[in-house]
Amino acid sequence: MAILIDGKLTSSQIKSEIAIRVAEIKAEGGKTPHLAAILVGSDGASQTYVNAKVKACGECGFESTLVRLEDDVSEEELLKVVAEINENPDIDGLIVQLPLPKHISVEKVTDKIKPEKDVDGFTPANVGRMALNWPAYVAATPYGIIELLKRYDIQTSGKHCVVIGRSHIVGSPMSILMARNGYPGNATVTLTHSRTANLPEIAKTADILIVALGKPHFVTADMVKPGAVVIDVGIHRIEDASKKSGFKLVGDVKFDEVSEIASAITPVPGGVGPMTIASLLYNTLLSAEKKVYG
Ligand code: NAD
Repeated sequence: MAILIDGKLTSSQIKSEIAIRVAEIKAEGGKTPHLAAILVGSDGASQTYVNAKVKACGECGFESTLVRLEDDVSEEELLKVVAEINENPDIDGLIVQLPLPKHISVEKVTDKIKPEKDVDGFTPANVGRMALNWPAYVAATPYGIIELLKRYDIQTSGKHCVVIGRSHIVGSPMSILMARNGYPGNATVTLTHSRTANLPEIAKTADILIVALGKPHFVTADMVKPGAVVIDVGIHRIEDASKKSGFKLVGDVKFDEVSEIASAITPVPGGVGPMTIASLLYNTLLSAEKKVYG
């Protein structure tokens, strides 16, 4: 049976460490870190995510500002709000909760965020800095995975890492981070995607398998090398009549059978997911302490 890589526990440890640092900053008379979030519209899932981020700010001693805009806000108006926050010296980090309504260009809005405040790590400047192995705000999910590998002392140097999925927010940055010269990193990386031929055979050669394709239970035991480390990023609600809610959460990996042969594995829920808010808070702290852009 594999070691369970516990993201819930690790994220609460990180949040405690951040809270301690914030208390020190305040005691030294320094500035309280301040995160601003823009939420457009009334999508239920987006509201839940933003509320969780605001709550976590409070738990760590941060200040937070939530700007709510109507569904029909114009792109121009949203860009104006972003520009105002960019220029507000009290705010260290800005996130714009995605998805945005169809009439608004995500690219335009992302590009408007000042890289120094882009604690989601989505702007071209931060993606470029991350790729160059410069100080950067690394996007929350890849950063969370890197932190889990580090805290569970997973050896990556010289290992073969297979990443399934090449999205801009998970698979692609993960492949860059695992190949970079550092720890975690120095792995030999294969980035696979929907057009990859012989995916099961390639997956089976992985010492570290990072799965982010968005298909429930896609990775089965016969696709995994015995002893591999398996990181499951996927998250899906599937019907389950035995649950009060009527559903349960599962990942992209068939946990029951893969956990029998892997050496370590992240569960769903309680694996990669809880790490994302901790990563966002960490980036905001970095910004408040001017540790990325100086
Ligand atoms: P995405 O849809 O943007 O990208 C999916 C990628 O998988 C694409 O690059 C595609 O080429 C690849 N893919 C699709 N089908 C494939 C196949 N059959 N074989 C190989 N590759 C295939 O998804 P995403 O945003 O990267 O998210 C992936 C999953 O991770 C989703 O389930 C999402 O909900 C979850 N997610 C979880 C967190 C978290 O915090 N836990 C964060 C982000 C995403």
